[in-house]
Amino acid sequence: MSQTRHSPVLIIGSGPAGYTAGVYAARAMLNPVLVQGIEPGGQLTTTTEVENWPGDTEVQGPDLMVRMEAHARAMGCDIVSDIITELDLQNRPFTAKSDSGTVYTADAVILATGARAKWLGLPTEDKFKGFGVSACATCDGFFYRGQEIVVVGGGNTAVEEALFLTNFASKVTLIHRRDELRAEKILQDRLQKNPKIETLWFHEVDEIYGTDSPLGVEGIRVKHTKTGEITDIPAKGVFIAIGHAPASELVKDQLELHNGGYVKVAPGTTRTAIPGVFAAGDLTDHIYRQAVTSAGMGCMAALDAEKYLAEQGD
Ligand code: FAD
Ligand code: NAP
Repeated sequence: MSQTRHSPVLIIGSGPAGYTAGVYAARAMLNPVLVQGIEPGGQLTTTTEVENWPGDTEVQGPDLMVRMEAHARAMGCDIVSDIITELDLQNRPFTAKSDSGTVYTADAVILATGARAKWLGLPTEDKFKGFGVSACATCDGFFYRGQEIVVVGGGNTAVEEALFLTNFASKVTLIHRRDELRAEKILQDRLQKNPKIETLWFHEVDEIYGTDSPLGVEGIRVKHTKTGEITDIPAKGVFIAIGHAPASELVKDQLELHNGGYVKVAPGTTRTAIPGVFAAGDLTDHIYRQAVTSAGMGCMAALDAEKYLAEQGD
């Protein structure tokens, strides 16, 4: 039999945005319920060293998320292992159906379901993920100082990552499957002017190769999309930058999305177009996509929700 649970604030997602919202909402005495989803702890549980979380010179991603969960719990956030499968934001209270059968109702909802990098889907990409293959230059570029790097993709992300990686790499090769970039002209201009970057047009990645012990990348094999010619490119780091997919399925027909599926919020806030519904973290951020910015937005969402609920009570 399905159970219904009501709380003033329902937080969906257990990454840095969700847990931070949990800490703030709990300390505001809003008795938040936080539903963790299929990946408790979020994206950082899929990485090793994190070197840009303030206060920790180096911390393991999964350890950091265990600490955030414990922190939110200690403040009084009710953390539930469940997955939201349907969300009704048109009626009040807001209603969320879940995988377990529990129905969550709430006066305010904080969406913190994150985003996922898109991958090429090659077996060798999977093998070297975290060991030379990455989808986050800001996170991992530092590990490739003085090395050769390749970036795959032709959008803003790929070009920005290629430019950023020249701060560390001896050489960056941008590999694109066409001869035209989607990236903005100003970025294309910077790319062309950068002496450390070479662009390889009409090429797709066939496989990533490297060593097994220790596990590490040595290069990639690319195929010309027209001639089929195969070329090996030596590289220690491979950055896949072919786009991100925000986890906005639950709200895609209820809230305005932009920039390829990200939830739109009022500038400088976490407010969506529906009063009482707030969005934080990578779900709403196509630019920064960092743990610390997500945590910051989680804080903002809880404060925005607190203000909204206080106004309802007036
Ligand atoms: P996420 O961490 O994506 O969490 C989303 C949460 O939503 C998950 O808990 C998921 O289970 C939950 N969820 C999704 N759908 C549902 C649903 N239907 N019901 C319930 N819950 C749901 N950033 C840095 O600052 N430094 C780094 O070094 C760094 N390294 C990274 C390395 C890797 C490999 C990756 C992939 C990312 C890295 N990032 C790093 C980026 C950072 O992880 C993200 O910016 C951050 O995790 C985003 O936090 P978030 O809370 O918005 O969402
Ligand atoms: P994107 O614009 O969708 O570009 C993805 C790129 O990857 C495209 O060039 C695409 O090739 C290529 N690609 C996709 N799948 C591929 C595959 N399987 N194999 C090889 N290549 C593949 O994604 P994005 O660059 O991440 O940008 C997403 C959104 O965020 C955009 O709206 C962008 O403007 C925005 N963004 C803005 C900024 C900024 O304002 N500074 C920064 C980053 C992102 P094709 O071109 O051939 O399709």
